[in-house]
Amino acid sequence: MKTGGKHYEFGGVPGNLLLIIFLPLIVYYLYFCLRYNHGRLIPAGISGKDIRSFLSNIVPTGRAFLTYGVWLGFQALLQIVVPGRNVLGRKLEGERRLSYRMNGLVSFLVTLGLFLALILTGVINPLAVFDGIGSLMSVVILFSFTFSVFLYLHGRFTVSGKAPTASGVHNFFLGYSLNPRIGSFDLKLFFEARPSLIGWIILSFLYATVQYKTTGAVSMPMILVCLFQFVYVLDYFLHEEAILSTMDIVHDHFGYMLCFGDSVWVPFTYSLQAYYLISRVESLPPWAIVLLVLLFAAGYLIFRMTNLQKHRFRQDPNRTIWGKQPEYIQTAQGNKLLVSGFWAWSRHFNYVGDILMAAAWSLPCLFASLLPYFYPLYFTILLVHRERRDFNRCGSKYGKDWQRYCQRVRWRILPGIY
Ligand code: NDP
Repeated sequence: MKTGGKHYEFGGVPGNLLLIIFLPLIVYYLYFCLRYNHGRLIPAGISGKDIRSFLSNIVPTGRAFLTYGVWLGFQALLQIVVPGRNVLGRKLEGERRLSYRMNGLVSFLVTLGLFLALILTGVINPLAVFDGIGSLMSVVILFSFTFSVFLYLHGRFTVSGKAPTASGVHNFFLGYSLNPRIGSFDLKLFFEARPSLIGWIILSFLYATVQYKTTGAVSMPMILVCLFQFVYVLDYFLHEEAILSTMDIVHDHFGYMLCFGDSVWVPFTYSLQAYYLISRVESLPPWAIVLLVLLFAAGYLIFRMTNLQKHRFRQDPNRTIWGKQPEYIQTAQGNKLLVSGFWAWSRHFNYVGDILMAAAWSLPCLFASLLPYFYPLYFTILLVHRERRDFNRCGSKYGKDWQRYCQRVRWRILPGIY
């Protein structure tokens, strides 16, 4: 949507307002379905007592505020004190480059180790934490609103020059500043990975522990879900630098969309398969386990190899791909667009890998409900929309060269289909 010559994304101001209101409601609804609707997406046999219990369950409590405060403080402390390599990010507006400390892997492993130690020694009671998940969710939603207001004001007072757009709502939703920092502490990098990805894995592991405490065992589907998700996040931290060239860091400003997505959406909705499985202890036949592992491995290899091909090509355009010199389109802007390897198959073959992995950690939940498939469905929509945004952005950045590239690499995501 265009307003006053500016391109307004996500449905313009009306779309932004709807998303600001409805995204938290979707998170609450999914939680309601998991806890009070037997894991089904369509409400059935809901009583007034269920609704009252749900409402009292999501009231923010002092304990939830304290838990989240300690969690955020601990993650921030790790980002500040854990040693790591300093890496320069991509060139931003005005040719400046920011330095980032890459210490996520240690922070992730330290957090997991500490979490397991606290559970094993009984300092944390997983059942009590699980009981308070609704309150915690509300606290994090409140936090994401408040912090987005802070980000908006911080941007207004620190960004020199014109506002990103003429609309206050749009600037609140998509963010005022690109890379807000407090001193050298990069807020966007922190929220992109620490409370979000680490929080997601902690919640999935918590649900596995709750299953163990309530049923006496951890089922094979639960093990597969936790293992696949753990590998995905571990991979993120093993290749942490790769975040520095993503749309999120280079192009998207830091506002409500990323703040809510990172703080609330990722941890609470990406972990819903593990929540769904808590009371379901069916096992899987060996052939199904093998197929699921193969599906995940295929998705992972596609995702990792495609992303690495582009990353390495951008670092060294002469490095061979599949034993051959890479082919590319030289743009007038200066950058080269790779058209070899997976980048000859489609313009975002990496997204195929992501969707296969999402399917692999939903299928262990079997087929009694659509709810565990919320993630792959939503994620496919997100990636299709993301591809369109990237297409528009690259179109205006590279002009005729982008058109030449698109003629050469015809498919957007899935070769032969889309
Ligand atoms: P890509 O990694 O596909 O990067 C797109 C950018 O790469 C473009 O903007 C362009 O930037 C550059 N580019 C595009 N085509 C070429 C080419 N042929 N050769 C060289 N450079 C090119 O996109 P994303 O940042 O969207 O995704 C990164 C990964 O993160 C994906 O695997 C994705 O699935 C995953 N992801 C996961 C999410 C989650 O919640 N789990 C959310 C979002 C993404 P430039 O300006 O540099 O030319």
